Amino acid sequence: MANLTLAEAKKEIGPLRKQLNEWADAYYSKDAPKVEDNVYDKKYNRLVELETQFPQLITPDSITQKVGGQIDSEFTKVAHPIPMLSMGDVFSKGELREFDQRIQKLVGHPVAYNVELKIDGLSISLEYTNGRLVRASTRGNGEVGEDVTKNARYIKDIPQTLPEPLTTEVRGECYMDKEAFAKLNKERDEKGKSVFANPRNAAAGSLRQLDARITKRRDLSTFIYTWVNPPEKITGQHQAIDEMHRLGFHTNQTGQKLSNLDDIFAFIDKYTAKRDSLTYGIDGIVLKVDDLSIEQSLGNTVKVPRWEIAYKFPPEEQETVVHDIKWTV
Ligand code: NAD
Repeated sequence: MANLTLAEAKKEIGPLRKQLNEWADAYYSKDAPKVEDNVYDKKYNRLVELETQFPQLITPDSITQKVGGQIDSEFTKVAHPIPMLSMGDVFSKGELREFDQRIQKLVGHPVAYNVELKIDGLSISLEYTNGRLVRASTRGNGEVGEDVTKNARYIKDIPQTLPEPLTTEVRGECYMDKEAFAKLNKERDEKGKSVFANPRNAAAGSLRQLDARITKRRDLSTFIYTWVNPPEKITGQHQAIDEMHRLGFHTNQTGQKLSNLDDIFAFIDKYTAKRDSLTYGIDGIVLKVDDLSIEQSLGNTVKVPRWEIAYKFPPEEQETVVHDIKWTV
C-alpha cells in the first residue's frame, strides 16, 4: 500500500464497506450473487489490508468482524450457543506455510492436520435428542440461524434417527451435486424461470424455503464434518469424522491426516486437478489441527477459528458461462 494517509484510507474504506455489504446481502440473504467470488474476495482483502494498516478504522460492524449472512425474518430463529463461524482463507501455498508456522509457534511443536475438501454449499447444524433429529438450522449470522427442520426432513442422507440414543449436535455442508444442479437449471430454463448462478446458491435457495415441499423436489445432499460435542473417546477431527460416519452421517471420505507440508501440497495438487471430475463442487482445501484439545486452547477470533484455514482454489475459467444467463432472485 503506497504511503496512504489516514484520511485517504478513511475515504476509501467507506464506499468499500458499502459495496461489500451490498454484495454480501445479495449472496447470503437472496442467494443471488451480483459478482464472482474472486471479485468479492479481492475487495474484501483490500478492506482487510486497510484495516490492518489503520486498526483505528476497524468498527464492530465492519464485514471483517462478523460472520456473513442474515436471517430471513419469516423463518423461526435458532440460537447457536456455540457460534457457527466463518473460516480464514489463503490463496497461495506460501500463505499456508505461514499459517503452519504461526500454529507451530502458538502450540510449541509441529502438529498434524486433517486435510479436507472445502465443499461449496452452506453450513447446516443438526441437533439430536435421544438419537432423534429434533432441529436443523442454517448458520445465519453465526449466533442466530434459521430453522430449517422441516426442510431437512426431506434431505435423504440426513439420518432422522441414530443407532444410539445420543443427544448431540453435528454440523456440515448442505450442497447440491453437479448433476442435480444442471437438471434443476435446465427445468427452470425450460419453464422460463431464472436459473441459479452456481450449485452453492442453488443449495442455499433450495434449503432456505418456507415451503418445505419445494426443498423436497430439489435434490440436496450433505457432508457432515464437525461434531460439536463429541464423546470423550474422540480426540481428533479425523477420528470424529470416522465415528460420525459409523453413526450413519454422510461424510466425505477423502480427508487425510497429514503432518508434512509437502504431503499437504501434494493433496492440494491432486484435488486441484481432480476438481472438475468430482460430482460435487469444491472451492478449496481445509486444514484443521487434528487434536481437539489443541483446537480448544487455540480458540477463535470474533469471526474464525484459529486452528483451521482454507486454501482457496484460483477462480475457474469456465465461470463466465453464468454471465450469459439470468441469475435467480
Ligand atoms: P467460506 O464459505 O469461505 O468458508 C467457511 C465455510 O466453509 C463454513 O461455514 C462451512 O460452511 C464451509 N465448509 C465447506 N467445507 C468445509 C469443511 N470441510 N470444513 C469446515 N467448513 C467447511 O466463508 P464465508 O464467510 O461463509 O463466506 C465467504 C465466501 O463467500 C468467500 O469465498 C466469498 O467469496 C463468498 N462470498 C461471495 C460473495 C459474492 O458476491 N460473490 C459475497 C459474499 C461472500
